[in-house]
Amino acid sequence: MTEKPRYRRVVLKASGEALMGEQGFGIDVSVVDRIAADISAARKLGVEVGVVIGGGNIFRGVAVASKGGDRVTGDHMGMLATVINSLALRTSLVKIGVDAVVMSAIAMPELCESFSQRQAMSYMNAGKVVIFAGGTGNPFFTTDSAAALRAAEIGADALFKGTLVDGVYTADPRRDPSAVRYERITHAQVMRDGLAIMDTAAIALARENHIPIIVFSIHEEGGFSAILRGGGHCTIVAD
Ligand code: UDP
Repeated sequence: MTEKPRYRRVVLKASGEALMGEQGFGIDVSVVDRIAADISAARKLGVEVGVVIGGGNIFRGVAVASKGGDRVTGDHMGMLATVINSLALRTSLVKIGVDAVVMSAIAMPELCESFSQRQAMSYMNAGKVVIFAGGTGNPFFTTDSAAALRAAEIGADALFKGTLVDGVYTADPRRDPSAVRYERITHAQVMRDGLAIMDTAAIALARENHIPIIVFSIHEEGGFSAILRGGGHCTIVAD
């Protein structure tokens, strides 16, 4: 390793929608391959990486609830969607020689390992990429909250939130050309101003555990490792 990365251990959160590319649904393998390449670049810097992938490209629990169905069952379906995405990411990582393991919050031993904090720590210490699937394992939560939870559990130095844009702006930069990206804001400001970075439970958990949230563009090739090297475009949410 020639450069000292900005963080030693991180959790990367990407929404399920990030995986669907232009398709509008499901998984675009070329997009997953690109995200895997970015994770590989981070590993080459010596950074330990945990990953949480959402499930919104396949299913969200509210879709059932909004049509009068049972929300809990809907959320179970959403959590299963995150397992599908996690298996896709592991496949892409393994293809390029990155050692990766999927640990699910809901036991499904034929498909992947079950999450345990101790085992996850030991895999991360050994340099494996650990993909945390199944969200928190509980309905009424989100994968944003799962990402903050796992970041706290494994002692991550930062939580990387991959979004469509390269940070938090004063207004929507796709609509308002005068919008300016914040370099740095506090968790408290995000909560007070209702900035839609992650859900409130996730922000609160990160804040309580003094975990900075790095908001960056998941679609910018090499963006993840550029930030880890101390450059790149992002907003840092920290107290
Ligand atoms: N989900 C859940 N508990 C969790 C995480 C996720 O019930 O701890 C369900 C919920 O239905 C959610 C779906 O899984 O809508 C997909 O997760 P999320 O919406 O966070 O995915 P993303 O928007 O990041 O793609």
